[in-house]
Amino acid sequence: MDYPIDADMLSAALLDIEDKRSWDARAELARAIGLEEVAHLLGDPHLIARARLCQANMRMRLGDISAATEQIWQVHEWAVANDARVLMARMHMLWAYIHQHLGDAEQGLEHALLAVELLDDDCTTHMHIWHRTKLADAFWAADSMDAARIRYAQAEELAVLSEHPALLCLLNNHAYAEYSSGNQQRAEAVADRLLRLADEWEMPLEPAYLDTIGSIQIGNGRYAEAEGILELCLERHAEGKWDDANDMAQYLVTLAQAQRGLGKFAMAQASLDEARQQCVERDLGEALVRMHQEQAELYAASGDFEAAFTAHKTFFTAYQNLHSLQREARARTRQAMFETVEARQEAERFREQARRDPLTGLHNRRHIDENLPTLIDSDPALTIALVDLDHFKQINDRLSHNVGDQVLVRVAAMLAEGVAAGCPGGFAARMGGEEFLIVLPGTTTGRAVALLDGIRRAVRDHDWHGITRGLPVTISIGVATSAEVQVPTQPALLSTADSHLYAAKHAGRDRVVAATSRGYASAA
Ligand code: GH3
Ligand code: MG
Ligand code: MG
Repeated sequence: MDYPIDADMLSAALLDIEDKRSWDARAELARAIGLEEVAHLLGDPHLIARARLCQANMRMRLGDISAATEQIWQVHEWAVANDARVLMARMHMLWAYIHQHLGDAEQGLEHALLAVELLDDDCTTHMHIWHRTKLADAFWAADSMDAARIRYAQAEELAVLSEHPALLCLLNNHAYAEYSSGNQQRAEAVADRLLRLADEWEMPLEPAYLDTIGSIQIGNGRYAEAEGILELCLERHAEGKWDDANDMAQYLVTLAQAQRGLGKFAMAQASLDEARQQCVERDLGEALVRMHQEQAELYAASGDFEAAFTAHKTFFTAYQNLHSLQREARARTRQAMFETVEARQEAERFREQARRDPLTGLHNRRHIDENLPTLIDSDPALTIALVDLDHFKQINDRLSHNVGDQVLVRVAAMLAEGVAAGCPGGFAARMGGEEFLIVLPGTTTGRAVALLDGIRRAVRDHDWHGITRGLPVTISIGVATSAEVQVPTQPALLSTADSHLYAAKHAGRDRVVAATSRGYASAA
């Protein structure tokens, strides 16, 4: 069946989401879900994981942190198991965002550091620039502006060299970090670079960057320039293709600040009134706090100190409310994240339990059915062995079922130890009753027979007095290897091993039987 897209096209479509800053997270989420379906059709687990991480990113941006967390964990498992470094780098970037969003600057920094450490030649230029920018942001959030500045500079150098458009965003972040850390001169230098570059590259600056530049100019008393920049900012915002409608209130407050600086009090008040209306209509807590603060400043500037004092009190109450609401929201999100991780671990425990035999602790038939076919397909030198206890019924009959159980537990442990010592990638499982399976990847018949015969002798020579009061315990083993069956499948290998086991029993038990080029090999 033909699909409209191949792996390369799908990879390019994913990269378009991964390496892009789109503000329409809902649309991108829908796109990423569609791309995951295509990845499933192509049967490509790496592309599936990438599509999932894109979804997690968008879910985080839409505020659904627990769903995002759950998806990142799924990707995490696959990325670690397959040593997918690029994916891991992107994943740590996402964790960094989430921790920062939750107000945990330290964890945010830790993940941002990993997101940079994991960068290599396979990563895109965008990643090299962007991950360093976010590391700088994380240092800034952790109050280490000096460390932040080094990373901003590294990112800037890379972006200038490659003339990468991410340079604009990185300069915006750097300018804002300097501004909010109180370094007005440095902030202005970076903001001027941003303006100059946008001009040179003939790339219109997005409203949010213009708002940063305007705020910095206001901080340095350049009110007229700031007013011009903010008017442009609101014009671009009205185009509707850069940002969210909710952002307008913030821009209006910045514009009011510039107008106040110019002594245009009536215009400033008009801007603030519009901002207030936006805040009420859209329920915007953060912008409302800034609006109240600016209202107090505006009253004070126009000499109405009583009104300024009242407005300041309103600002302060709104500020406190906002912070306690934010704290509560973060606590709720953290709790949801924690519960997701717990639920996941619990589910994993159940999953694991369902694949273990409760008596011996070995893997069970279900584990075999789930894993053996893949092992057979991927390993041309796979050997399996069926192990059956000899005259086990007698132990049950002459001693007790309980003693029988103890023997099974002891034999199971000896099988597991023997396999672990002789074939680290192998495992022992309980098929049912007193029958076990041993799986030995990458092991030829000869080596397998030697290993299995060692286990057989160890069981026979074990001091069973403590458990069976001297009644002997022995095992018979039937071996089968991929190379000896025409089409290596689980049923074919098990049936071959079973017939060799039957031969071992028939020949007198306590022995290993395998097919070799010379015919049956048996050891006893
Ligand atoms: P052979 O050498 O031919 O394999 O003889 P055997 O007695 O081992 O074989 P048989 O199949 O006749 O008997 C197997 C016995 O294993 C019968 C069953 O009661 C016992 N058995 C199966 N599962 C368990 C278990 O979980 N615990 C105990 N104690 N006994 C079990
Ligand atoms: Mg038996
Ligand atoms: Mg049996």
